[in-house]
Amino acid sequence: MHSVEQIQKMPVVAPATGKVIAEIEETPLHEVPLFYQQGRKAFIGWSGLSIAERLQYFKKLKQLMVDEMDEIARIVSEDTGKVLTEAIVADIMPTLDAMDHIIRHASKILSRQKVKTPLLLIGKKSFIEYMPRGVVLVISPWNYPLQLAMVPMLSALAGGNSVILKPSEVTPLVGKCIQDLFKRSGFPAGTVQVAHGGKEVGAAFTEGKPDYIFFTGSVRTGKIIQQQAAKDLIPTTLELGGKDPMIVFSDADLERAAKAAAWGAFTNSGQVCMSAERLYVERPIYGRFLELLKHEVRSLNQGTNEDADVGSMTFPAQKEVVKAQLDEALARGAKLETGLKPSEWKDGMFLPPTIVTQVEQDMKIIQEETFGPLLPVVPFDNEDEAVGLANGTVYGLNASVWTKDKAKARRVASQLVTGAVVINDVIITVANHGLPFGGTKESGIGRYHSEAGLRIFCHEKAIMEDMGLMKSEIQWYPYKGKYPLFLNLFKNYFSEKKNWLAFAKNYLALLKNNK
Ligand code: NAD
Repeated sequence: MHSVEQIQKMPVVAPATGKVIAEIEETPLHEVPLFYQQGRKAFIGWSGLSIAERLQYFKKLKQLMVDEMDEIARIVSEDTGKVLTEAIVADIMPTLDAMDHIIRHASKILSRQKVKTPLLLIGKKSFIEYMPRGVVLVISPWNYPLQLAMVPMLSALAGGNSVILKPSEVTPLVGKCIQDLFKRSGFPAGTVQVAHGGKEVGAAFTEGKPDYIFFTGSVRTGKIIQQQAAKDLIPTTLELGGKDPMIVFSDADLERAAKAAAWGAFTNSGQVCMSAERLYVERPIYGRFLELLKHEVRSLNQGTNEDADVGSMTFPAQKEVVKAQLDEALARGAKLETGLKPSEWKDGMFLPPTIVTQVEQDMKIIQEETFGPLLPVVPFDNEDEAVGLANGTVYGLNASVWTKDKAKARRVASQLVTGAVVINDVIITVANHGLPFGGTKESGIGRYHSEAGLRIFCHEKAIMEDMGLMKSEIQWYPYKGKYPLFLNLFKNYFSEKKNWLAFAKNYLALLKNNK
């Protein structure tokens, strides 16, 4: 018999106000096997539907989200502390856009694809078929709690998988909202299940032998999940942290670059895996650019009202990370250009957008992910130095390059060891669902969005078809007399100077030899 633990309730605190706004029941650990049983049962029916049939459910879900966009934006904003504009632009819009993309392209991307068959295999046809994997476990973070849960869920569902979501315990109201949206859109029972709770619940589901794990979160947790997954050879995608550089050359449009730096560093209070976390500025324009940037940052409006630019932090522990990095930098001689010293911070979850100069490349503020409103600005002297500094961390998610010289921009972009690069803009690659998304180095393993984002949730099955009209194949037994014929056949086939006549003669001889 199971020992049934008491159901725990998680209080939901709105970070911007500190008020408890709800309570959510944690999923008891003894229910984990039940989730997998239900997921496997639902998989049979769901995977048996055609892609077009599955997409009918997507259309209902999309319309429901369009109808209730304002309500959803308010839930996201209250649960995270982000301002309403960011909830709608950066969490809801990308989710709807991904859904649109999947509705338009999934059938083509996931249907059987014909592949060329080489001449040596004459008479056969080759195909790739995309088979769903089974039950996909999606574990998501708190910074874009809607998008980063729903986009992998939808990508997995399109391919015929059933899904278990373990949303972040830091933003459980959004997890509940997602559960409710799928339920009200009529997805068959068990096709989408949501488990609530923290890392123990996440770990229990990871150990429950899903067929695939799609994880978005910190490098630390990503490594734990990868180790657990390795024990059962469970394939994973890991979307992890970033420390994205922004490189501004002297010939850039400085006004635009300064606005971009302010937005790129402080949108979502800097709690963005792809936010600009290091700003490298070419020395001749360094002073002028810093003044433009400070002007932009000082005009930002912090709060909770509909017109506010910068909201609160979401996760209390993240304040400590920002504090530790800023304290270390200031203790080692860095200069505060905007914002306050941590000792002067007010209580609560609002942190001032903070610009810091005179930092060293080995400081935490440069080497470690901040995930908060802290931006170090560093001068550089030439292109090579900029590339070296930009590549000089363990991360490699996104980056941006600012110059009017297209050739230079492309040259620098191609030298950056990152999953994406934006030229004369920041972060925005993520908004084109047709582009792959993911990191290099410790920023993650694998890609999603684009074609790859649907196909990772499927096994690629190779299929070859033969009409079966010949009694035998040339490479089958018996081998008697075949060696010199194969020798001539391959020499003529693979040689740079092909002799098709000799090839054909040997091929026919082999066929004749084929008993
Ligand atoms: P986190 O790693 O603490 O938690 C992420 C999720 O994992 C949560 O749902 C959590 O409950 C769960 N979890 C924690 N420990 C677990 C364990 N041992 N086993 C299974 N599940 C476990 O990350 P976070 O603080 O929620 O998110 C912030 C991090 O996410 C940052 O590092 C950020 O850069 C990264 N992130 C990456 C991307 C990307 O696409 N690359 C996007 C957003 C955020």
